[in-house]
This record gives sequence, C-alpha cells and structure tokens, in this order.
Amino acid sequence: MPKVTTRTLNLIGGKWVEAKSGKWFESRNPADDGDVVGEVAKSGPDDVDAAVKAARKAFDGWRLTPAPKRSEIMGRVAQILRERKEELSQLLTREMGKVIEEARGDVQESIDTAAYAAGAGTRLMGETVPSELPDKFAMTVRAPMGVCGLIAPWNFPTAIPSWKLFPSLVCGNTVVFKPASDTPIVATALVRIFEEAGLPAGCINLVHGGGGDVGMAIVKHPGVALISFTGSSGVGREIASECGRALKRCSLELGGKNGSIVMDDADLELAVDGSLWGAFGTTGQRCTATSRIVVHEKVKAEYLSRLVDRAKKLKLGPGNDESVKVGPLVNAGRVKEVQSWVDRGVKEGAKLLCGGKAATNGALKKGWFYEPTIFDNVKAGDTLAQEEIFGPVLSVITVKSFDEAIAALNNSKYGLSASIYTQDVNRAFRAARDVETGILYINSSTIGAENHLPFGGMKETGNGHREGGWTAYDIYSEIRTVYVDFSGKLQRAQIDNRKAES
Ligand code: NAD
Repeated sequence: MPKVTTRTLNLIGGKWVEAKSGKWFESRNPADDGDVVGEVAKSGPDDVDAAVKAARKAFDGWRLTPAPKRSEIMGRVAQILRERKEELSQLLTREMGKVIEEARGDVQESIDTAAYAAGAGTRLMGETVPSELPDKFAMTVRAPMGVCGLIAPWNFPTAIPSWKLFPSLVCGNTVVFKPASDTPIVATALVRIFEEAGLPAGCINLVHGGGGDVGMAIVKHPGVALISFTGSSGVGREIASECGRALKRCSLELGGKNGSIVMDDADLELAVDGSLWGAFGTTGQRCTATSRIVVHEKVKAEYLSRLVDRAKKLKLGPGNDESVKVGPLVNAGRVKEVQSWVDRGVKEGAKLLCGGKAATNGALKKGWFYEPTIFDNVKAGDTLAQEEIFGPVLSVITVKSFDEAIAALNNSKYGLSASIYTQDVNRAFRAARDVETGILYINSSTIGAENHLPFGGMKETGNGHREGGWTAYDIYSEIRTVYVDFSGKLQRAQIDNRKAES
C-alpha cells in the first residue's frame, strides 16, 4: 500500500476537525497514481450544518469589523502567499497535475486577488444622490449578505477559490467553502494562510467531500444566503434550480467552448503560438481553453501544417519537470471521457491529424496523460465543435469569409471567451461588437484573463455575474438605499413636491 503522508481535516468554527462520518477519501497525484498526496475528511450534510452554524455565529462580529480592517487581513494573506508561492505551486502541481510554470501562475493569481482585496475595503463605495425633496439626503450603502456558500472546481485550485474568498470576506460575509474533491489539500493550504494571517475563527469554514453530499447540502441549507459556483453547466443548472426555488442569489461560472478566428491576414506564427497555448496549456482543462479554430481557407494549409508539426513536438510528462509543456489530465475518468468524445468525432467523419489516444509510453503510464489532438474537417454544428471536451482536443473549422467566421464562432451554446487574429482594425472592432462571449482577445489566445478585470460569460456559461476585479464585489453585497429626512416634518415623495402642479 502507498504511504499516506497527511490527513486533511475540515475547518469549522476555527477548529480543525474530522468529518462526522469518520471516513476519508484519497487525493492522488495525476502524474503518478501510486503517489497518495493525502487522505481527506469525507464529509456530509451534518458537517455542512455545523459549518453554516459556525459561519452564522461569526457573522455579526465580522460584518461589524470596519471594511478597511477586514482588508488589512487580506493584505497579510497576500504577503504570506508571496512567501509560500513556490511551496504552494509544487503542492498544486503534485495534486492537480498542471505544469509547474502554470501552477506558479495559478498561485500568482491568488496573490494578485489578495492584493486587490487588500485595498478594496476602502473602496466599498455607495452613491450619494440628490433627493427630490428639500432637507433630505439620499445615498446607497453596501451590506453583506450573510453566509456565502463557495463551491469550486479543481482546474484552478488556488485561483478560483481566491476569486470567491477574498471579495466575499472583504464585503463582510462569512463563508462555507467546498473545494473540488480532486484538489482538497492545496485548497486547505490556502485556507490555512487566512488563519495564519489573523482571520477570526468561523469566518472561513472548510468542508471537504463530494458534490452530491457536501456541495448540494450547502446549496440547500436555509442558513446560506448566496451560492457562488464555478463548474460544469450541468451542475450549474441543478444549483440554479435549487437556488431559484429558495429565491437565493447564485453566481454561476460554467462551461466554455472557446474559439479563435484565424483570418487570411493573420500573423500565422502568432496564431500558431496562441493556438498551442490555448488548446494544450493546462492540458486543455481550462474553462477558457481554445477548443475550436475557425480558419480562413486561404491560410488554412500553411497554418495547419505549422500547428500540427509543433503540437507533435510538445513534451508530455509530470508537471514538476520544468521542461514539460503538457501535464496529465486530472484523473482516470477524464481520460475515458476525452477518449469517448474523440471516438465520436472520428465516427462522425472528422479527420484526425495528430493524437487521439492516451499517452502511455514509459513513465507516462503511471499517470493520466493524453496526446495533444487536432481534428480537421469539423463543421460548426458537429459534436466536436459543440461539446465541452475539457481536454487537449482542438477542432478546426474552415470558412471563406469574416462573416462566416463570426457565425461559426457564435454557433455555440456557450459564450465565455474568443479571440481573433487579424491585422485589420475594422475586423477587430466588428468582432468586438459581434462575438457572443464575455471575453474577447484581439491577436492573442482565448486564455490569459487578468485578475483585475471582469471574468465570465454569456449564454450557458453563466447567469450574468462577473468574477474578477470590482464586479466580484457586486456579487457579494446587497445595495441598501438610505434616505435621511432632516426637515423635521413628514414629506411625501411624488406628492408634496407636486402639489402646485395638480
Ligand atoms: P463540476 O461541475 O463537476 O464540479 C465543480 C464543483 O461542484 C466541485 O467542487 C464538485 O464537487 C461540485 N459539485 C458537483 N456536483 C454537485 C452538485 N450536484 N451540487 C453541488 N456541488 C456539486 O466541474 P469540474 O469537473 O470540477 O470542473 C470543470 C468544469 O468547470 C468545466 O465545465 C469548466 O468549464 C468549468 N469551469 C468554469 C470556469 C468559469 O469561470 N466559467 C472556470 C473553471 C472551470
């Protein structure tokens, strides 16, 4: 039996505790299935209930702590994160698999989010507006929501929880956080840093376990005021229905099927660089991964020959090897699922140009590796171009014009990210007007969001909220409108100031 190195607990009301079930689940290294990263508390609805009660108990103390003071703690978290960046990045790579350079990027995103939060407490602004009546003052203030339920996926194990934890806490909420069960240990390391930075007990409660047992219990708990969820559109839809029934606010960041347009005037080397990074970075396991290329027929042959040539040369291996470009998929189930989409693509007539199977040579057989895969002859409506595969699979669609390219790009139920390679400023601006996505890159890949700008998508990618930057702070606060009448008499809006007119 592999040696178990750590046991990872829940954090409830400031105490590290086992799950009430007394059971554990394992977290393993996707690059080496024999490497058990640790055992983790296997929790259920009872643990969630205890966590919500602890969060509720801490809420008044935290909401009455001045927001700039709350932010000061986030500044300390930022500092500790900077000091631990390498340690956290190595753990992240071991538990989730992404190559170390990208793991460092993931942790850097947490640092940047923390730094933004460190100033945000002094900028939780409302508005002052003239009243329609004399001797009366009108303004808006932000109020916290209460206990927030934060549910995260595994593909950005520190960045995505950070996008949720920092703004929710700065706004004065307390939280119950459930990380994905593929990445619980690195998520716990992140939470420990908040504790170390002096966050009061009960402000963050951490409950480990599966989506059905823990995630849904958080969603359904009547003591939880808001759900912030990042994950698949299928689960997002279930969560939205539950929240709809309870009239609970929910912020959803869901799937994507992102495409890049390569026009006939594109810088082809740039387009190839961007396509490889977008499609095969994080082994295609990014919500913003490039999974469709819409290429103009005039440049297709040249673009594809360079792309396939370079894709075949990408080095696969464990992410902690600095020379590796493509790490493993996160678990065995993902390999099976990617394979089933690839098989379906072949059956439906797409032309496989490279990859198409798991990579099992030598040491790769210890983990869940999959060859970078490119398909040609894909139509915009085909399964390969419609379904989120969430693996290193790129489908190429050929078009004859800019209008056809935009139509192909928009032929998707998702609307997260897109990009266009062109030297023509008019086409760039038309794309900025016409693409149906929340994010658009001109002359760059579909990935590369910066922390301080809004992040999110249209259509089935979400429900209109945006994480990242200032818009995240809108998710986690209620707007309260406050009127102060200093006239000393009853003044009736719409009536007393209109008497002369009637
Ligand atoms: P997932 O939906 O399977 O799981 C996400 C989280 O939800 C996990 O913590 C999981 O345990 C939990 N969960 C699962 N079932 C649940 C249920 N019934 N009730 C409550 N919680 C439940 O997604 P995943 O496989 O972890 O992540 C991949 C997906 O996430 C992809 O679709 C990807 O596009 C999406 N994603 C979106 C964004 C974005 O910002 N739009 C970012 C990253 C990932």
